[in-house]
This record gives sequence, C-alpha cells and structure tokens, in this order.
Amino acid sequence: MSRLRQTLTHPLVVLAVVFVVLPTLMSMAGSTISLATQVVIYTLYGLAYNLLLGYTGMVSFGSSVFFGMASYTARFYYLTVRKTEEKLRALATSDTLTGLSNRRHLLDLAQQEIARARRAGDELSLVLADIDHFKQINDRCGHDAGDRVLIHASELFREICRTQDIVARWGGEEFLFLLPATGEQAAREFAERVRKTIAATEVAHADQPITFRLSMGVATMVGWEHLHDAIGRADRAPYLSKSEGRDR
Ligand code: GH3
Ligand code: MG
Ligand code: MG
Repeated sequence: MSRLRQTLTHPLVVLAVVFVVLPTLMSMAGSTISLATQVVIYTLYGLAYNLLLGYTGMVSFGSSVFFGMASYTARFYYLTVRKTEEKLRALATSDTLTGLSNRRHLLDLAQQEIARARRAGDELSLVLADIDHFKQINDRCGHDAGDRVLIHASELFREICRTQDIVARWGGEEFLFLLPATGEQAAREFAERVRKTIAATEVAHADQPITFRLSMGVATMVGWEHLHDAIGRADRAPYLSKSEGRDR
C-alpha cells in the first residue's frame, strides 16, 4: 500500500492527474454539465484523490478546491479552443444564409465520394436546381423576401435528402445535390420529387404568398469522368429548361 501511495504522490503523477487525466475525463463527459456542477465534480475528484493519499482536514479540503480550480481552468481553455475551432470550421464550410454546405465544401466532399464510389463500383449522381425568375422575386417582393425564399427552399432540400446525400448552395439561387449510390433513373426521380415539392410550397409574404419553381439538371458520373465535366452536364440542363419554359 505504501508503495502505491509513493507512486501516487510522485509530483509527475499528481501533475498528470490534475492537468491531463481529470480534464480529459471531464471533457469526455460532454459540455452539457452546468458550470456549478463542474466545479463540484472537480472538487469531489480532488477530495477523493486527497483521501486516497491519506490527507485529512483543512489541508485536504484546501487542496481539493485547488484540484477543482486547476482542472476546471484547464478544461475551460480546452473547450474554448475546441468551440472556436468548430465555429471556424462551420464558417469555412457552410453558407451563412442557408446553413447548407458551400461550394468549396461540396467540391471537397465530392472528391471523397467519387473516390469511394470508384472503389466500391457504385454510381454517383449530381442534381442541379436553379430557381426560376428569382431576380423577379427580389424585384417584386424585396431582397429580404428573396432571402427567405432561399432559406425555405434549403430547409425543404435538407428534408428531402437521405442522410448520405449532400446538398450545397452552389451559387446565388442555384443548389447542387450529390447523391451517392444513385443511378440515372433514381436521380431523375429525385430531381422530379424536389421540383414538385418546391412547386407545391409557398413562402408567406405580406398579403400575397410567394410561389416559385425550379429548373433541374441531372448528371450521373460515368467512368473516370472529371467532376467538373459532370457538374457542367448537370448545369447545362437548367439552361435548356429555361429556353423551354422553365419548371422542368
Ligand atoms: P432564370 O429564371 O433564368 O434562372 O432567372 P433568374 O432571375 O432566376 O436568374 P438570374 O441569374 O438572372 O438572377 C439571379 C438573382 O439572384 C440575381 C441576384 O441578385 C440574386 N441573388 C443572388 N444571391 C442572392 C441572395 O443571397 N439573396 C437574394 N435575395 N438574392 C440573391
Ligand atoms: Mg441561375
Ligand atoms: Mg434562376
């Protein structure tokens, strides 16, 4: 027992427990614990550790509080750094208005998906959606209403997607879906479902709700086709739709 005590009281062990083990354990417990609870838990940790070492009375309580504060401080800085890192990552990968992935993030994810699809011999499809006459919505109802249309459409897109699908804001009023393990026929059906969902929805605005339509493009990646060529194919279809009356 005295050998164990000797090991546990070694300064390096004490430092490791105070600054590494306890904060790590507490961080793993998640950030849902309230501040007050954290301080109590840390102090109890310290108390338990002190009792293990055989300290008693005020010395034990005093150093327990020290344990608590030291661990809490370490954890506070650890969590601050982690939260900042998460915020920066979200800023760099998502579109601020709609919260969808941004163009650059979709391109990164697409490269990973393409590599995976090629390894597994899976099909992979892209669907491009362009809001028809969006400029007119802005002109008629105002830029804020236009923004609400983009947000509303994005929420519906998110709902329609399966968990493995990725949807990104590709440009102003253009959205790109990346559909893993999806062939041409299934991608066309998906695009049609998206188009119909949007056609059936409306966004509240003054006394006249806003309705809007989409022009869709579908491209299923073939062989070792380059991503940008496939996106180009998906992107050309809405232009064709525009020349043929849109909403298709
Ligand atoms: P088409 O039917 O041919 O697609 O015409 P369109 O008006 O939808 O397309 P166009 O490219 O002519 O205009 C797109 C408009 O989208 C122009 C731009 O001001 C607007 N826009 C781009 N980004 C935003 C945004 O974040 N918010 C709002 N409200 N408008 C935006
Ligand atoms: Mg457009
Ligand atoms: Mg448009």
